Amino acid sequence: MSLKTSSSLRIIRAPWIVPVDADVFRDGAIVADGSGIIDIGPANLIISRHPGVDIIELPGILLPALVNAHIHLDLSVLGSVVLPFKEATMCDWISALLTKRAEADYSEVQVNAAAQQTVNDQYESGVGLMLNIANVPLDLFAVAPVEVISLLEILGPSKAVETSLIQTIDEGSKDLKLTGHAPYSTTPGLLKVIKERSRCQNAIFSLHLAENCDESLLLTKGQGCFATFLRERNAFDGTFPISGIDSSGVVGYLQQTGLLDDKTLCVHCVHMTDKEIEILSHSRAHVCLCPGSNRFLSVGVAPVEKFIRHNILPAIGTDSIASNPELNLWHEMALLRKEHPRISAALILKMATLGGARALHRDHEFGSLSKGKIALFLHVQSEHYEGISRADDLLNKLTTSGQPAIVEWLSFLDN
Ligand SMILES: [Zn+2]
Repeated sequence: MSLKTSSSLRIIRAPWIVPVDADVFRDGAIVADGSGIIDIGPANLIISRHPGVDIIELPGILLPALVNAHIHLDLSVLGSVVLPFKEATMCDWISALLTKRAEADYSEVQVNAAAQQTVNDQYESGVGLMLNIANVPLDLFAVAPVEVISLLEILGPSKAVETSLIQTIDEGSKDLKLTGHAPYSTTPGLLKVIKERSRCQNAIFSLHLAENCDESLLLTKGQGCFATFLRERNAFDGTFPISGIDSSGVVGYLQQTGLLDDKTLCVHCVHMTDKEIEILSHSRAHVCLCPGSNRFLSVGVAPVEKFIRHNILPAIGTDSIASNPELNLWHEMALLRKEHPRISAALILKMATLGGARALHRDHEFGSLSKGKIALFLHVQSEHYEGISRADDLLNKLTTSGQPAIVEWLSFLDN
């Protein structure tokens, strides 16, 4: 629900403001118009600094829009793809997903309708910006003001596929934004071509990384479930194992291949050695956590405390509904709090907002409530927040009690 769609100057006053990049404060106000946030601070101060400006008084909490840094909208049509049997590996799950997609043979209309519904649901939950990793080109999403950045995902695990895909890429539209799938599914040559193209386009390059320990097994030894998966599909042609991977692991290999910089977003990052985390940190690449998907697929828990110690502020992504029936960033935050009780509520909320905004290089607009940022933010209310008098308690409830009963958008943008 949108509370306001005019671009004219207003003061929004609320009992709590959660700026994310500054301390939470009570009885605050934000001055904004169509150009963005003009001022923010204690209500009395703001009202005296901006006399004569209309004031909208709200009863809840103001906070920035959430950023979902990893989703696959075109998989929405599939619904949940459960692990096919007890002890099933991630490769078994990928097979189940491919089978379900092939058997259902969904039409383009069905795929688009389900994707649009997911975008609408994300918007209703408070997501203002998301990175969509697509398997089919989608050009939709005009209905909700949530912004969707889409990258078309490329995967090719063998030399033959690499050659034909590079030719297709060369002959195709130069404007299309591409990204690689994962080190276990895409040859080094193909990843290099896609990253170089992203670099020229000044675009984000997103890569599933270290989601499963079999990735490292394939790349270093040519073994594990991915090796079996490729053999069964006649795609195991000697590309893997990749020679020369030393103790710096798969992350070291990506670094040496020139794939890591601050426009690279590494997604999942569950199985990483300390050395790999150090390399990742030095490369300034970003990390996106997908705790709900990781739990659903039983692939483990990411070493989030270590990322923090290495000055990495992760983003958070839901991944697709195929591996995450919840598909809700509030749920992801609650899961992270449960799995990492020593990480503060403030930091988890920062990941779901500023972490995502930085990873997508949009933190000049999104991620926090401060002067100059986009005038598109949230007003939330819930019975869980009633009677709270301390900022710590509020942050705790925001990150543990799931999606608030009321999520409203404050929008000063002209539609
Ligand atoms: Zn994914």
